Amino acid sequence: MHAMAARAGRLAVEVVVTRGWTMNMIEVVLAMMILAVVIGFVGWVIAGRRAAAEERRQRPARLRDAELVFVERQFRSSGRWPVVARVDRVYRNPSGILVLVELKTRASPMVTRSDVIQLSAQRMAMEDELHVTVADEAYVLIPRGHRGTSLIPLPVNLMAREEVEDLMRRREALQRGLVEPRWPASQRTCRACGFRDRCGLAP
Ligand code: SF4
Repeated sequence: MHAMAARAGRLAVEVVVTRGWTMNMIEVVLAMMILAVVIGFVGWVIAGRRAAAEERRQRPARLRDAELVFVERQFRSSGRWPVVARVDRVYRNPSGILVLVELKTRASPMVTRSDVIQLSAQRMAMEDELHVTVADEAYVLIPRGHRGTSLIPLPVNLMAREEVEDLMRRREALQRGLVEPRWPASQRTCRACGFRDRCGLAP
């Protein structure tokens, strides 16, 4: 009786993989785990290569030979008005100069004043934290059409550090009520303004 039970137990933990070759259940589980890890790793490598190829295809032509060095990284400037800025992408040209790229989703392919300010503040934060040179020209990438399978690169001339600091100085003065706010140049600014609900002055 004991002999039969032992044989049944042995059979239960043995799986015939091919004729004449068996492995016990632990080996089967291990083999499946290793296979799953290998499949996962290969999938990860393929997905990474596809993403890299897609990123390379989306680049502005002038960054074809550049190296992508930062993706969605935060930097902080020093000085009296510290800026904390999160960059979308940063490339390093063969000459060593860094170039900022910002991805935007909007209906029309245009660069706004806020894009210029945002990228200029990003440059200031990067230069202060990394002590590097960032190019005067950056790019905004906007999806082409509804499906957005390709991106339109729009060059942006960045503001000088002094201009960014002037804006920050004015912002502080506005917050302290020391200067009068100015009307925006266009009513379109009000339509897209994040403070519209609280403003009460929007036309
Ligand atoms: S909605 Fe108000 S705060 Fe916003 S831009 Fe217009 S006037 Fe300025």
